[in-house]
Amino acid sequence: MHETVFTYGAPQLKFGAGAADEVGHDLSQYGCLRVLVVTDPGVAATGAPDRIAEGIRRYGMDVRIFAGVHVEPTDASLREAIEVARADGPWDAFVAVGGGSSIDTAKAVNLLTTNPGELMDYVNAPVGGGRAPSEPLRPLVAVPTTTGTGSESTTICVLDVLHLKVKTGISHARLRPSLAIVDPLLTMTQPPEVTAACGMDILCHALESWTAKPYTAFERKQPEQRVPYCGANPVADMWAERALRLLAGSLRAAVRDGSDVQARTDLAMAATFAGMGFGNAGVHLPHANAYPIAGGVHDFHPDGYPDGEPLVPHGMAVALTAPEALRFTFPADPERHLAAADLLAPAVDPGTANGSTVDDPAERLPSILRGLMRDIGIPNGIGAVGYRDADIESLVQGTMRQQRLLATAPRAASEEDVAGIFRRSLELW
Ligand SMILES: [Zn+2]
Repeated sequence: MHETVFTYGAPQLKFGAGAADEVGHDLSQYGCLRVLVVTDPGVAATGAPDRIAEGIRRYGMDVRIFAGVHVEPTDASLREAIEVARADGPWDAFVAVGGGSSIDTAKAVNLLTTNPGELMDYVNAPVGGGRAPSEPLRPLVAVPTTTGTGSESTTICVLDVLHLKVKTGISHARLRPSLAIVDPLLTMTQPPEVTAACGMDILCHALESWTAKPYTAFERKQPEQRVPYCGANPVADMWAERALRLLAGSLRAAVRDGSDVQARTDLAMAATFAGMGFGNAGVHLPHANAYPIAGGVHDFHPDGYPDGEPLVPHGMAVALTAPEALRFTFPADPERHLAAADLLAPAVDPGTANGSTVDDPAERLPSILRGLMRDIGIPNGIGAVGYRDADIESLVQGTMRQQRLLATAPRAASEEDVAGIFRRSLELW
């Protein structure tokens, strides 16, 4: 029997220039006395967490800053954060300042300082115990400083389990932040390469949730089986559509001129809207492919990111197979793919995209994506970040492990299908 029910959840939202200055007042509404600010060393160096902590102290609260978040959290880094928080606790609320890594770490800290047991008890099965929290969590205020991850809207905490070399997560409705404070002024110093990668992440969140398998195509669930990601649905669609419109007008502009406040604001709004969409619908193939692309990095050092460990940034990893993945999913719902193309490139005449004539309708969206990626400096395919034909087999295996994401794909993808997507993504133009 087919599903007839969908669900929608979202945090409270405060949006706009200067919104981050109001965290103290917002926390005072929860009656908090002791607050832990969770951030990473790079964000701490910008001074933003200190300013936010000072703003909270003005409301008479005791504030500590934990600046030890590991970018791309691991089970070890989360355990360390949890231990510090447990030793200095109890806490009445948590404030995450940073990108997805800080927000995800704060989610884990919140869970494990309010609920019994250890981290692996709550990690998704089969890697962990898949346990659900039995106790309520504390308020978590998420203040993203990079546009795009959407972690401020979602119920998931992503982590690498080091000894198993696997990326997995903890997912439960109670992990969702209570309040998201999105202040575009916090993103003004983001370098163009980071803006481009984050922008592609936002775009893929919107495109993937918009093209996701519709909730009505899933098997009917029992109430206790419901998951936060339920497939494309009318409410998530609305957010995805608005996000695509905003991106069409702001992504190129924000990469070209980072001081363009209007473009930064529109991009931050697109990120927020896309997060509210995919946080309920889910994402599919480009995100499933991004895990092994980021995880198997050989020796790629992108401009605009701290030197050190080789890295394929999440948004870049997602973007690199998006044109080919969305060409593959086209037959599942041609109308939706064409509608997305129209939203992203509203000015072009029917049958053309970015000035070039495109006869094959399945080619329209991929062609618009490639044109955009070229313009904003995304590398030309997975070959340009170090992958060769010989790597495809292991990339495919990495994608096939992302069953939760593959289940949301509008068209079932076999190993050969995924291999074909990777092979055609070696070089995109
Ligand atoms: Zn993403």
